[in-house]
Amino acid sequence: MPSYDRNNVFARILRGELPCRKVYEDEFALAFHDIRPLAPVHVLVVPKGDYVSNADFASSAPAELVVGFWRAVGTVAHHLGLDSPGYRLVANHGPMSGQSVFHFHVHIFGGGDAARHDPVAGSPRPSMSMGMIANT
Ligand code: AMP
Repeated sequence: MPSYDRNNVFARILRGELPCRKVYEDEFALAFHDIRPLAPVHVLVVPKGDYVSNADFASSAPAELVVGFWRAVGTVAHHLGLDSPGYRLVANHGPMSGQSVFHFHVHIFGGGDAARHDPVAGSPRPSMSMGMIANT
């Protein structure tokens, strides 16, 4: 994994140096629309801290920030009206996963079939069932 670059695009958005289509902000997180949406609703939630990915965030961030960040993810999805139709959360770790911005972030995909399909791969995914979990 690359080390944290303080000039990555999300760090610059957090500092107000680059614009974004803001959805939500609190002391822990900023949420904004993805510039290249892969679903009818595609919002990114980024924590206010210098973390490359979830591995880094979960192991190094203060507990208050981890809790505040994940509460913000839920709040954003709720305010976007996605609770009832459902939504998908994705966080990439490393270049092989498709991560392209090395400031930890969570994608919220919603609208249409986004909760049932994989917007990243663009292909249908089967619903997870206990049988599938037991068979893995
Ligand atoms: P990932 O590939 O998981 O690192 O996700 C990075 C996401 O950031 C991609 O979906 C990009 O479309 C999105 N992105 C890159 N630059 C911007 C920007 N300036 N504003 C909003 N979204 C961006």
